[in-house]
Order: sequence, then C-alpha cells, then structure tokens
Amino acid sequence: MKNNFRSFSQQEINTFITELGQKPYRAQQIINWMYKKLARSFDEMTDLPREFREQLKKTACISNLKLLQKQVSSDGTQKFLFQLEDGESIESVLIPNARGGNKFTLCISSQVGCALSCVFCATGKLGFKRNLNAYEIVDQVITVKRYLLAETQHAAPLQKLYEYSQPAIANIVFMGMGEPLNNLQEVAEALRRITSLMNFSKRRITVSTAGIVPNIYKLAEIIPEVNLAISLNATTDEVRNSIMPINRKYPLKELLKACKAFPLSAFRRITFEYVLLKGINDTKEDALRLVKLLRGIRSKVNLISYNPTPLQKTMRLFEQTDLKKILEFQSILHKAGITVLIRKSMGADISAACGQLKANYQ
Ligand code: SF4
Repeated sequence: MKNNFRSFSQQEINTFITELGQKPYRAQQIINWMYKKLARSFDEMTDLPREFREQLKKTACISNLKLLQKQVSSDGTQKFLFQLEDGESIESVLIPNARGGNKFTLCISSQVGCALSCVFCATGKLGFKRNLNAYEIVDQVITVKRYLLAETQHAAPLQKLYEYSQPAIANIVFMGMGEPLNNLQEVAEALRRITSLMNFSKRRITVSTAGIVPNIYKLAEIIPEVNLAISLNATTDEVRNSIMPINRKYPLKELLKACKAFPLSAFRRITFEYVLLKGINDTKEDALRLVKLLRGIRSKVNLISYNPTPLQKTMRLFEQTDLKKILEFQSILHKAGITVLIRKSMGADISAACGQLKANYQ
C-alpha cells in the first residue's frame, strides 16, 4: 500500500523526503502545495522536478475526499456530502456570512455519525460509525476551499487559483456530524494542521460540544485560544436529560463549572447554542433560569429556531417556537446584559441540519 501524504504529519513528510535522498526544502515545498496551494496530486506540484514527482508516485499518494452530492440553498448555504476512503460519508456545510463580502463559515464534521443521540438531531439518529482521522477533518477545509476558489475564479487553472487565494473561508466551526470532544486527539491534530500549515487563525475556529466535561478542560490545555461553544438547549437537568442524554453523565452544574474554568483571552466569550423547542425549553422561566446559569461566565447566546427534518416533521416530535416567543426570550436575556442573537436557520430548503443529507442519500 502506498504512503498517504494526507495522513502524514509535517515531521513524517520531512522524514520520508529525507529518506528518498532529497533535500529537506523539498518537504516544505510539498507541504505548501498541499496546505496552501490546495494540491490534490503530486502532478499538480509543478515546481518539483518531474523525476522527483515520478519517484514520489511510485511509493506515495495523496488521498482526496470524493464529492458524492452537493446541495445549494436559496440563501446561499452549500452542503457537501463527501465519501471517505472506506466508503463512509460525512457532511460539510458552507454558510455565507451575514455581513457578506464573499466570506463564509465552514461547518465541518469530526466523526462518522454520533453516539450522543440528542433527540432533535438527524446525525444522532444515524448512530456512531467511527472517528475521523485528523487528515479527513482537514481535508474538508482543503476541499471546500479549493472548490470555492475554483468556483470564484470560474474554474481557473490551479496556478491562477492560488494567486487569488484570499481566505474566503473566514470561520471554521466544528458543528457538523459528531461530537468533536469525543475525538479530541484527532481534532487537536487537525487544529494544529489547520492553524500552522494553512495559517488559519485559532481565534476564527470554534469547537462546539454537547458537554463532554473532562475534555473541555483538556481542550483548554492542548489548544488554548480556540473558541468554545456549548450546545446547551435546556435550563434544567430534567429537560436536558430528556433531549440530550449526555447530560445524565455530565449534568448542568458540572458543565457550567467547566465553562467557568475555561480560559478566555480579552474580548473572548463562550457561545451557548440554544435550539428553541416549542413548549419544551422556550418559556419565560427558562429564559430567567438561563440568565442565572450564565452568571459569572463571559458568554453570548445564539437562539436557534428549530429546523425539523422531514422525518421529524412527520413524527411531530418537536415544533418550532413562534417568533413572538423567541423575541420575548431574547428580550429577557438582553435585559440581563447578555449578548443574544437569533440565528436564522440557514439552508432550511436543503436538508441543512447536520446528518440530513447523509440520511437522505442512503
Ligand atoms: S447534536 Fe451534535 S452531539 Fe448531539 S447527536 Fe447531533 S452531532 Fe451528536
């Protein structure tokens, strides 16, 4: 089997190239091609001598995600379903930033499926298959970035493409399929590659968790400065236990204690995601409890309108909270001095909730 350069760390590429009898700077050239110029093969690395490329191709390869399906929403959200080498598939979602300017947020997956079974989530319904390797996480960024640039440049040749490679992806969020803190080692390695090899700022990356408390502490140690988001969705253990089973293991008190201990540099805050479910977690009392829970934590709250999958619509598990109630909820938080945004449900017309495209494809 050939050595897959995607899976190699920087050090492993250096060693491999040195063992081939090549000068160390060749390793850096290859790394630049892979991570900055987004090359998908040795043949695209046109400033490497042809003989060297042929030598590489004999014993090494570069794996690439295969695009199985893409959906584009009327609001500009683009959803990608990628196939992995073992035939499994994952999703990535590209969301236009509200301020425009041709900037996007890329939402990436960290696992195939998810073991946490949050009841409102389509990925949870798929069950857990496996963790993604670091390179499969990074390759989502590379592939979507390449796709985006190629589209912007009207499929310009690669040489042109990287000359224009302004970072159109402005933010990366680990909010796709899977619980990133249940795959911390590979997520941490992916973060290292995205920040050090692709020059992406840690401050523009957010890791979102349903509340794997011990790994919130570890994340702060391993990759400080990355942003933390908590998928909260309830203000009592009773309700949270019923919609997010992980809460039985790590109840609200422990979760919020970990949030209080999470180191935040100046002007940084923890984001609390709160999907409003009619009659479940959207009352005035919930809003008041939320204010209390967040006391002492530098936080901002994203209120999200529930976006049911077609199956969930049929099952009528949950219903969307009315806009009037969402605004009331927001107002209570706002009056308590909490920054609170109502997040539009992007891509509502294209199976944009995580796990939906994969579920529909199978
Ligand atoms: S919401 Fe996140 S943590 Fe919960 S089941 Fe879905 S992917 Fe897993």
